[in-house]
Amino acid sequence: MSNLPKIMDDLVTANHILAHHNVVDSFGHVSIRHPENPELFMMSRARAPACVDIADLMTFKLDGTVVGPTPSPGKPYSERFIHGAIFEARPDVMCVVHNHSPNVVPFTVVKKSRFGAIMHMAAPIGCCVPNWDIANKFGSCTNLLVTNMDMGRDLALTLGNNAAALMRGHGAVVVGKSLREAVFLSIFMEINAAMLIKAQSLGEVTFLSEGEVEANAKGRAGFTLERGWENFCREVGRPYYPQSMEMGPGFSKTDV
Ligand SMILES: [Zn+2]
Repeated sequence: MSNLPKIMDDLVTANHILAHHNVVDSFGHVSIRHPENPELFMMSRARAPACVDIADLMTFKLDGTVVGPTPSPGKPYSERFIHGAIFEARPDVMCVVHNHSPNVVPFTVVKKSRFGAIMHMAAPIGCCVPNWDIANKFGSCTNLLVTNMDMGRDLALTLGNNAAALMRGHGAVVVGKSLREAVFLSIFMEINAAMLIKAQSLGEVTFLSEGEVEANAKGRAGFTLERGWENFCREVGRPYYPQSMEMGPGFSKTDV
């Protein structure tokens, strides 16, 4: 039997979790690559993440074209090109989160500021998260939104092989090899940002080293994500499906 219904339900849950953890508010979005066709992705119609329901989910081609009907009432997110362009550039990515995470945004605008992991739970964001400035290619008169594939592809270039990229004066993108991974990292990136602001007010900061980032990436077993996901589901009163396809590579049942 196809796992699609449970995966779609998990996508709804991810919307609620990200809202609960203040990673998104009325704005921001999360998408998954279609589990049965890598040339498609799924995300909600344009709606506040906390309100998203299963009937809101839409399917898109990687260029942002809508596949099938648009839920009524509704329209797609104008920034869906962020997701399509990243899925296009990164075949390894199964999930994309775009947010305006409140403690992260300050790091997008302060010149010469450095944003990177200072605690192990956020290690996958790396030692120094790249910062995409829309003005570099598209001038200083945009509304800062990523509203076409040109912009999305330029952002994806800055993201490169990283797990996250900042967007100057706007927010961030976070990617993962699974829905759980991207949601987990989005939450801990926001927590890391709040901690970094506090740490910087106390004195000189020690970021994780390259070696520590690498060691954490290797050591992050599926059970860590699973433990978080189960609790996140409980917090928002959503169903928890253990050991679904969303574990990501390297997961085995014995990890739970
Ligand atoms: Zn945005």
